[in-house]
Amino acid sequence: MTAPALNTSHSQAIFGAAQALMPGGVSSPVRAFKSVGGQPIVFDRVKGPYAWDVDGNKYIDYIGSWGPAICGHAHPEVIAALQEAIEKGTSFGAPCALENTLAEMVIDAVPSVEMVRFVNSGTEACMAVLRLIRAYTGRDKVIKFEGCYHGHADMFLVKAGSGVATLGLPDSPGVPRSTTANTLTAPYNDLEAVKALFAENPDAISGVILEPIVGNAGFIQPEPGFLEGLRELTKENGALLVFDEVMTGFRISYGGAQAHFGVTPDLTTMGKVIGGGLPVGAYGGRADIMGMVAPAGPMYQAGTLSGNPLAMTAGIKTLELLKQPGTYEKLTATTQKLVAGIKDAAQSAGMPITAASVSAMFGFFLCEGPVRNFEEAKSTDSERFGKLHRSMLERGIYLAPSAFEAGFTSLAHSDADIEATINAFRESFAAVA
Ligand SMILES: *Cc1c(COP(=O)(O)O)cnc(C)c1O
Repeated sequence: MTAPALNTSHSQAIFGAAQALMPGGVSSPVRAFKSVGGQPIVFDRVKGPYAWDVDGNKYIDYIGSWGPAICGHAHPEVIAALQEAIEKGTSFGAPCALENTLAEMVIDAVPSVEMVRFVNSGTEACMAVLRLIRAYTGRDKVIKFEGCYHGHADMFLVKAGSGVATLGLPDSPGVPRSTTANTLTAPYNDLEAVKALFAENPDAISGVILEPIVGNAGFIQPEPGFLEGLRELTKENGALLVFDEVMTGFRISYGGAQAHFGVTPDLTTMGKVIGGGLPVGAYGGRADIMGMVAPAGPMYQAGTLSGNPLAMTAGIKTLELLKQPGTYEKLTATTQKLVAGIKDAAQSAGMPITAASVSAMFGFFLCEGPVRNFEEAKSTDSERFGKLHRSMLERGIYLAPSAFEAGFTSLAHSDADIEATINAFRESFAAVA
């Protein structure tokens, strides 16, 4: 079945003008649709599971602003709380009680977090946590995994997954070699490689940082024993374990991936959901380590807008909504139904696929599985994914514009939305087979 032609003339005009104003016409690279081809859609507004573009087309959205919109876009309770908060001002640059409230909620929820510092993005949280593990251990090196993304700070721009992968930049110019010399990498799910790095760098590795479920190299789960093995190895070697839960925090479960898997790191970074759609990041963990952070301790880190009342309000209200009973069961059921439908649709079209989900996070690769690391993820048929993406867009489904991104569902996605999405997948897989 062919989809009705999508009129995107206003999107094209706006994006065309944007190219002369901002590099690539965007404020963040993946939005430019480079890896799937075609022009990006310019959004006008979002509500619940839906987005409307500037031409009036409506889409069922599986990006959710790249994670924050887990309760659905523009949730009425979040909006109402923000409207009330904004009357009192947008930024204090002074302590505010809302910071205590959100800090208590995070500490109660996330097993590793005894103290927390709020920042403005996931990138900032990861930058700061790296400084912290170095300050605490007095060691410079860090181990990260191929395909994991920890924001765009220099020392993490090594084998950094989706955004970088899709642009074909294995690394970025402008990153000094001396900076990344301290960044060691291993394939995801490969404990032996981590062991070898510890053996080759005795007393030099400050810590291991990873996405406890990968969402930035497509969706990749840790194999049984991997997280536990990293917990043991870091302990044995006097290094710290950091879970980057910027994507998984409050999405995999209310306590994040660490609660789901029962493995507690020393430190955790958060972002996305924790800000409920406003710019918030956070890092936290063991109180003795967090005590190193200024002004309690000597490790400097600061932020003019950090902990501002609007951002705290959106985070608090979002976590309150997520804390209600049955939330994650509902998210799991919705996502499992979607993934079963995607698999079935691909198989009916005779197309290889491997697909999975945990809670409100899912992904699929257009190849035979299993996919355990970034190298294996690259077997996905990216060219076909580009065509699939366009076909889905024409059918009113907004998927992440890259074969190496996870997908996100929300509490607002109804059974009817999921069924409409599966139907669109059926038609699209058939169209691109
Ligand atoms: C998105 C993301 C980041 C970066 O967060 P920003 O808010 O975009 O700076 C870091 N780590 C992970 C795992 C992410 O998914």
